[in-house]
Amino acid sequence: FKIPRNPPPTLYQPELWSDHFNDFICKCLIKDFELRPNVLDLLQHVFIRQILGRERILQKQLMELIDLNQQIGTTGKTRYRHDADDLLEDLVTLEVLDENSVTEQLQRRYAKDQIYTYVGDILIAVNPFHKMELYSPQYTKMYIGAKRTANPPHIFAVADIAYQSMVSYNADQCIVISGESGAGKTESAHLLVEQLTVLGKANNRSLQEKILLVNNLVEAFGNACTAINDNSSRFGKYLEMKFTCGGTVVGAQISEYLLEKSRVVHQATGEKNFHIFYYIYAGLAERKKLAHYKLSDSKTPKYLFNEHIKLGPDIVNNTFYKEQFDSVEQCFKVIGFTLEVHILVYSTLAAILNSGDIEFASVASEHQTDKSNISNIAVLENAASLLCIRPDELQEALTSHCVVARGETIVRPNTVEKATEVRDAMGKALYGRLFSWIVNRINTLVCVCGLNIGILDIFGFENFKRNSFEQLCINIANEQIQFYFNQHIFAWEQDEYLNEDVDARVIEYEDNRPLLDLFLQKPMGMLSLLDEESRFPQATDQTLVEKFEDNLKSKNFWRPKRVDLGFGIHHYAGKVIYNAAGFLSKNRDTLPADIVLLLRSSENQLIRKLVTHPLTKTGKHTCVLCVQGDTGTGETTHHPRESTNMRTQTVASYFRYSLMDLLSKMVAGQPHFVRCIKPNNDRQASKFDREKVLVQLRYTGVLETAKIRRQGYSHRILYANFVNRYYILAFHAHKEPDASPETCAAILEKTKLENWVLGKTKVFLKYHHVETLNLMVRQTI
Ligand code: ADP
Ligand code: MG
Repeated sequence: FKIPRNPPPTLYQPELWSDHFNDFICKCLIKDFELRPNVLDLLQHVFIRQILGRERILQKQLMELIDLNQQIGTTGKTRYRHDADDLLEDLVTLEVLDENSVTEQLQRRYAKDQIYTYVGDILIAVNPFHKMELYSPQYTKMYIGAKRTANPPHIFAVADIAYQSMVSYNADQCIVISGESGAGKTESAHLLVEQLTVLGKANNRSLQEKILLVNNLVEAFGNACTAINDNSSRFGKYLEMKFTCGGTVVGAQISEYLLEKSRVVHQATGEKNFHIFYYIYAGLAERKKLAHYKLSDSKTPKYLFNEHIKLGPDIVNNTFYKEQFDSVEQCFKVIGFTLEVHILVYSTLAAILNSGDIEFASVASEHQTDKSNISNIAVLENAASLLCIRPDELQEALTSHCVVARGETIVRPNTVEKATEVRDAMGKALYGRLFSWIVNRINTLVCVCGLNIGILDIFGFENFKRNSFEQLCINIANEQIQFYFNQHIFAWEQDEYLNEDVDARVIEYEDNRPLLDLFLQKPMGMLSLLDEESRFPQATDQTLVEKFEDNLKSKNFWRPKRVDLGFGIHHYAGKVIYNAAGFLSKNRDTLPADIVLLLRSSENQLIRKLVTHPLTKTGKHTCVLCVQGDTGTGETTHHPRESTNMRTQTVASYFRYSLMDLLSKMVAGQPHFVRCIKPNNDRQASKFDREKVLVQLRYTGVLETAKIRRQGYSHRILYANFVNRYYILAFHAHKEPDASPETCAAILEKTKLENWVLGKTKVFLKYHHVETLNLMVRQTI
C-alpha cells in the first residue's frame, strides 16, 4: 500500500475530508485489500491521525488493523470502533448493559486517558485532573463537520453537532452541562466556546479573543476557590453564542444567576473570597498603588483573612494573580472602560475590603438598649474616603437606624451584632451590584439577534459538612436541571410512543418531580414557606424549621435528631443535611434604607449608580458582546424585575423567577447534554474511584439513558418535516412528493437505514440516524 505521491491538497484540509476520504479509501483500500466497508470508519480514523502527524502509514500497521477488525468480526452493523482492548466509544453498544459493565468501560477508558464516552447522543466527560493533549488545533480541525463515528468521542464533537443542527434546521440550540462541583463543567464550557468560535468562522480574531476574555472577566468576579474546586463557579452562567443565519458568529451574551454574595463577607474554613480581590491586591501591589486604595501589604483585610493564606507571599507576590490582574485590565479596555472607570471599580472593591475591617464595640446606654460604637475610626475614615462619603455619616448609618412611628422619625441605636450585620450587608450588596453592573455593561455594546447556541454551566450539586441557604438554592437548581433532563430523555419520548402507537419497551427512571414539588409548590413548598416566614418580623430560624416540619409532608424531608436548626433533604443526588441558621436574614437580604440613602450621596459616580439604579439584588443580568458597533453609553438596560419593589422581593422568590427564566430559554432550543463525572474527591489524576463514579452514574440515570437510547427513538419528526428535509435523498430535486408515510418509507428504504419506525404522524428514528441522514443530504446537495 502506498500513499499517493502527490496527495490532493484537500488531504491537508480536514474540513474537506469526509468526501475525499471516502473516495480515497474506497478506491485504494477496498480494491487492494478487499476490505469490508465497515472497516472504513476505523481506517479513516487512523489515517486522519497519521496524515495530520505528517507520518507515513506503515503497511505493517495497516495489516494489523485489518486483522484486528476481522477478529472482532463486525458484521457491518457496529457503528462504533473497538480498539485493541475492546473499549467502546458508545455505551449503548455494550453487549451487557448494567452498572458493572458501564463503570468498567469508563474505568478502562479512563486508564487510557480516554476521558470522553458517548451514551447515544449524550457525552460523558470524566475529569482527567491533568492537562490533556486533546485540544490542539489539530483536534479542532479534526472535529469540524466530521461524521461523529469518524473520531473518538470529544467535547468538540458536541459543539459540532450543535452547530450543524443550528445551521441545518435554522434553530436555536442549547448545551446543558451538568455534574457535581469540580466535575469539569466550567472547563467543558470553555472548550465548547472555543470550538464554537472556530466553527462560527470567527475570522475576526479579535472577536474570538473578546468572547473568551469576557468569559474570563466574568469568572474573575464570579468564581472562587472552595474546598472542592480551586476555580469553583459561584454563580450560574448561561452563555449564548450568537450567530447569523449563515452560521457566522457575531457575539456572545451572558446571563448570570444567583451569585453567592455571602462569600464576600465570610468563607468557610479553607475557602477563599472571589478571585478578583486577590487579583487586584497583587496587581495593585505590583504597581505600588496599594496605599492609594488604603490597602496595606502587611495586614490582611478581614474579608480575605484565612489562616492558610499569607498576605505577603501568597497574595502580594503571587505571579498568577498578577497575570490575572493584567488580563482583567485588558478586558476592561476591550469592553470600553476608561482609566477613570478602572479606578472607580478598584475603589469600590477596596472600599468593600476596608469596610470589612470596621470594628464595633458595645457601649452602655441609659435606655438599656445596647448601643455600639466604632472602635477603629481610622479604618472607618479609609472606608468612607473610598466610598466618597462622610465618615460621620457612615458611622451613623452603621450604628443606628431610623424608624418611622406615627409620622415621626426616630433614630434607634444598633447593637454590635446589628451594626456588624449592616456592615456586611453593605459589602455584599455593593459586590453583587458591581458584578451585575459589569455583566450589564458588556451588554450595552450591541444587541444581536439571530440564531444562538446556549451553554449552561451552573454551580454543581453541593454537599458540605455544613450546608446553608446557598447550598439549598444551588441544589434546587440542579434538581430542576435533572428534571429537565429526565423530561427530555425519558418522559416526553415515552409519551410519544403511546400517542403514536409505537411499540417500545418502557424504561423505568428515577423521577424527581416529588422533590421539585417539595421545593417549589405554592403555597406549601419549602420556598413559599420560607417567604411566608420571612414576612414575620418576630420569626426566627427556629420557627422556620418548625414550620417546615409541620407543613412539609414528604419522605424526602426529615428533621435529624441532635442537629439544632437542622433539616435533611434526600435530593436526587444524595442526602444533604442543611443548617437553617441565617436562612431568614439571607432570604430577606435587605440593605437598610439609611445605607442606601447615604451611598446615593457618594461622590463616586459608580457607587451612586450601583445604589440608585434598581439593579437586581440576586442577579440575573444579561450582557451582549458584539463585533462591530458603538461602545454603548454604559447605562444599564432594563430588566423585568426592575419594576418590582426591591424591598419586598426575597431571594427565594427571585430565585424561583430566575429558574423559570432559565428554563424557558433552555426549552426554546434543541438540547444537547454533557454529563461531567468526578472520578475522585482528591483532584488526583489517573485515580478512578469506582464507588464514587457509580454513585454519580446512578443518580444521573446514565444506565437508563443507555437503555432508552438503545431501545428507543430519540428523534421524532413529523412526516411533512421529514419529507421536506430528506426527499432529495430519494426523489428528484424538482419533485414535490406528498408528506405521506409512504414517501417517508421510500426515502428511508433508499438510504438503507435500519430500525426506524413510522408512527401515526411522525417518523421515529434512532439517535444516530439523523446524523447519517444529514450527512447524506450534505453530500447530495
Ligand atoms: P466544575 O465547573 O464542574 O465545578 P471545573 O470545570 O472548574 O469544575 O473543573 C475543576 C478542575 O478540574 C479544573 O480546574 C481543572 O483543573 C480540572 N479539569 C476539568 N476538566 C478538565 C479537562 N478537560 N482537562 C484538564 N483538566 C480538567
Ligand atoms: Mg464551574
